[in-house]
Amino acid sequence: MSAPRPLLRVSGLSVRFRTAQGLLPAVEDLSFDMAAGETVALVGESGCGKSTAALALTRLLAEPPAEITARSVAFDGRELMGLPKEAMRQIRGRSIAMVFQDPSAYLNPTQRIGRQIGEMLELHLGLDRGAARTRAIELLRLTGLPAAEQRINAYPHNLSGGMRQRVMIAIALACNPKLLIADEPTTALDVTVQAQVMELLMSVKEQLGMALLLITHDLGIVAESAQHVVVMYAGRKVEQGPTGDIFANPRHPYTQGLIGAAQRRDGSAGDLVEIPGSVPSLAALPPGCTFAPRCRHAMPRCLVERPALVALGAGREAACFLLEQAAP
Ligand code: SF4
Repeated sequence: MSAPRPLLRVSGLSVRFRTAQGLLPAVEDLSFDMAAGETVALVGESGCGKSTAALALTRLLAEPPAEITARSVAFDGRELMGLPKEAMRQIRGRSIAMVFQDPSAYLNPTQRIGRQIGEMLELHLGLDRGAARTRAIELLRLTGLPAAEQRINAYPHNLSGGMRQRVMIAIALACNPKLLIADEPTTALDVTVQAQVMELLMSVKEQLGMALLLITHDLGIVAESAQHVVVMYAGRKVEQGPTGDIFANPRHPYTQGLIGAAQRRDGSAGDLVEIPGSVPSLAALPPGCTFAPRCRHAMPRCLVERPALVALGAGREAACFLLEQAAP
């Protein structure tokens, strides 16, 4: 029996930015699949290309300065690369929705929140104004916003950061999307609200049967929420696999460092070592393995050769010379 068609199949996605320093590679040859209803976490430190990849596959990056290429980005059986802007806008409104880190930058400060949700419903679902208002209140209730009937008349500045994030989630859910992309959805919130917003995202995902692409630098929130993890470093996928396997046995030194850092933060530090240094700038990517300057296992070969992804079996792959003998 053939495997079911993935909801999203990204093949060979690359993004380069035209700058005064020339063409800078932000994402290189990224491929991954997502099944319907699945949660996939795209993880890595800030500057690793996660958000750029998400914006590129939804075609939300301005071209130029971005140059986006891919062998294919297939969503729900439809090829998105080369789709006219209007068709892509419709898909973004109805089938793929995004939640960003900072709701303040996304919400219109001069418009009541009820109108902002209502406009999505009128534009994409053809509801009249009264029906859109009723549905907007339902959506705000679904996101757990207290006193939704009253707060629908609030402006964004009348709400706390956590409440604004709930409003943005309500807007994202307005058209019952098949895929929700959440880009660092809790990073700007304080710790107690972070947990509430993650719980909310997971609960609405279950209720609505959506797939969730969770973009985060925080591996701590990935363990409980995602089925699959894709680890990115300096624009490239360096490891991928089922979440339980990745946490139990991270194979790439970068993934080992990320998990070590998360364990240190939650007080369960194991024997994994944190990563020294920082992500290189796009304008100064090292030759060879881009992780080599931070890698305690780096060998002379790592400084001049770039490791390819090695299939490790059971849906896992990683790009590190240490794993070349590990392939099944
Ligand atoms: Fe470290 Fe070399 Fe593996 Fe890169 S290829 S992660 S530098 S051991």
